[in-house]
Amino acid sequence: MTEECVAQRVQINGIVQGVGFRPFIYQLANQYNLKGEVANTSAGVAVHIEGPPTKIASFSKDISLKCPPLAHITEISLHDEPFEGFKDFTIVLSREQAVMATLISPDVSVCDDCRRELFDLSDRRFEYPFINCTNCGPRYTIINDIPYDRPKTSMKHFKMCPGCRAEYDDPANRRFHAQPNACAECGPHIELYDNTGQKVAAEKPLAKTAKLLKQGYIVALKGLGGFHLAVDAENGQAVEALRRRKHREEKPLALMSYDVECILRFARLRPEEEQLLISPQRPIVLVLKKEPHSISEQVAPGNLYFGVMLPYTPLHYLLLNYGFTALVMTSGNLSEEPICIDNDDAFKRLSGIADYFLIHNRDIYLRSDDSIARKTAGSTRFIRRSRGYVPVPVFLKRKIPSILACGAELKNTICLTKDNNAFLSQHIGDLENLETYDFFLLTIQHMQRILDIKPEIIAFDLHPDYLSTRYAREQQDIQKIQVQHHHAHIASAMAENQIDGSVIGLAFDGTGYGTDGNIWGGEVLVVDMEKYFRAAHFAYVPMPGSAAAIKEPWRMAVSYLYDAFGSDFYDLDLPLLNAIDLKKIKIMAEMVDKKVNSPLTSSLGRLFDGIAAICGIRYKVAFEGQAAMELEMLASDNVKDVYDYEWKTADGHQILTRPIICGVAKDVAQGIAPAVISCKFHQTLIRMFSDLCEVIRKENGLNRVVLSGGVFQNSLLLTGLINVLEKRKFKVFSHSKVPANDGGISLGQALVAAAVADKI
Ligand code: ZN
Ligand code: ZN
Ligand code: FE
Repeated sequence: MTEECVAQRVQINGIVQGVGFRPFIYQLANQYNLKGEVANTSAGVAVHIEGPPTKIASFSKDISLKCPPLAHITEISLHDEPFEGFKDFTIVLSREQAVMATLISPDVSVCDDCRRELFDLSDRRFEYPFINCTNCGPRYTIINDIPYDRPKTSMKHFKMCPGCRAEYDDPANRRFHAQPNACAECGPHIELYDNTGQKVAAEKPLAKTAKLLKQGYIVALKGLGGFHLAVDAENGQAVEALRRRKHREEKPLALMSYDVECILRFARLRPEEEQLLISPQRPIVLVLKKEPHSISEQVAPGNLYFGVMLPYTPLHYLLLNYGFTALVMTSGNLSEEPICIDNDDAFKRLSGIADYFLIHNRDIYLRSDDSIARKTAGSTRFIRRSRGYVPVPVFLKRKIPSILACGAELKNTICLTKDNNAFLSQHIGDLENLETYDFFLLTIQHMQRILDIKPEIIAFDLHPDYLSTRYAREQQDIQKIQVQHHHAHIASAMAENQIDGSVIGLAFDGTGYGTDGNIWGGEVLVVDMEKYFRAAHFAYVPMPGSAAAIKEPWRMAVSYLYDAFGSDFYDLDLPLLNAIDLKKIKIMAEMVDKKVNSPLTSSLGRLFDGIAAICGIRYKVAFEGQAAMELEMLASDNVKDVYDYEWKTADGHQILTRPIICGVAKDVAQGIAPAVISCKFHQTLIRMFSDLCEVIRKENGLNRVVLSGGVFQNSLLLTGLINVLEKRKFKVFSHSKVPANDGGISLGQALVAAAVADKI
């Protein structure tokens, strides 16, 4: 007996638009010979399906099982509907809907099918730099509003030719409703200009660009989320010129290579690093240099690692195919400013740096820098979470109110929440100039629009002078909740690991404003989402010159040495005392004595800096964290010894820096190699903090330890602490979805604010 036909409505929420979902449903319905229709709605994808109940059940099950690779379903619901007697299955145009819950896909690197066509002489898109399909191409950076349909993207200026239109309309085609679908005849195209704004006549602009790069010129390339500045990475002079003109003295530059084989010429790859490199998100991955290699020493001076990525747009593939081992691909900006996305803006801001401009006429609506990650202790660790990952939400354990969290000052990101999704923005940058602040404002508006979120609560840092704090204070008719920096760090790691309740939190970083007005950063906290207390921290030392002490680690070294030895430290045999003018050193000691411009800090970041300077590794830094990074990288790996360590118990545990500094200074004076000292220092921190965790476990009955803060970019410390804590039967949680540094702060602010609001 044949079953009676019924009708059901299937509502699918999650990342289901712009990822080939409707064609997938169409094909699935036809496979089961079911009738009805599918539509993108502002709430996701809705299917009206008619047929025998058993077939509908199998159909619904297959939706989760077989969904397209880029889709991410968060919710499927089924409801009975009146049977209408559809004759076939169709795809209907988008309709607006009251509740918007659709997740937008990130930009996706060119897929294998498109790449094959790109290099296929017989294909009509042979060498077309904007080839894409439902499984790949730009998304987040070209969307201006929802639902995700062509008129709401920067592709609205391009009318599809009959060939493209036919693909777009054909449910069986892999470009069915691919919104950025285009070809050389109807779509965006590239043009080459020199830096005076003169168009360069070239039959093949890409071939010409490759030639210019080989001749050592600097080319500004318009990409997916913004401009890159490119040079041939094997050309030392070109790399040097780029550094000089960009005012970027020592910070490593990112590389892009055609494939893994090219990368193996200059780097070692572990299998998990190769996996990350070829993933559709295509982040920059930190990989160990392989000596000897032909890449210019100027690319990552004094560094054991290269930051390298594979091509992620068809344009990159075409360009890299001209036989480069690697191109330097650094963000197209003057240092500290946001990356350029607009053609006119790029000419204005980059003409002092680039010799040529390879531009195109597909607008970028929202900039998105390259993401940076590495593999440590078996997991992906983000240094910057941006292109390829944003705006995929961090899925939370429970639903929370809509909150806008404004982030920290450096490496700023913002976070918007809705239900059990936390949307972290792309990397915005250091909120220290007007351009970055404008980008901060733009991102807030843009994300609120495309995610349809109207926040009820605004969360922000305690620091009174941050631009983000001022912004938050200016907002009207919204509940305001301030969150301490290190509380937010630990909360961000708790959020991504979906844990709540009380934990021991190790929050280690450079700078965060404390409730006592001092600069915190070496904090052992007992945290629950809505509150925390400071169980232990480094004893305060002065930072002579305040911000100058961050740029000049020798000042911190003087402060620690003076604290440990008093005036006797002048008699120590330390390279620092020869390298820095004694008069200057004495001024620092005087500033400390007289408490002039010398705020107090408990920062572990500063302790790393100070020890790097005492070892004579680095007295001044060109970028944040440089001294600490160099200290980590030169550590030998076979020292088991530790320095003496000690804490006083009064008002929590105060960890003294004195015994560690004394031990280090003695070793330096005795001519012990910095590699040994560095390793011994790392071992000291690992043993000392695991001992402290044991004490706090006894005091508070807590067994879970959460690690967060920028210092955990140090893989020696991260790996060592995880190992030792786990051996001592702690449950350890760290970051693998958002950065441990201040790029993850906004997530934690949002979660703390939600918990605080719950209690009010
Ligand atoms: Zn594709
Ligand atoms: Zn076309
Ligand atoms: Fe921080």
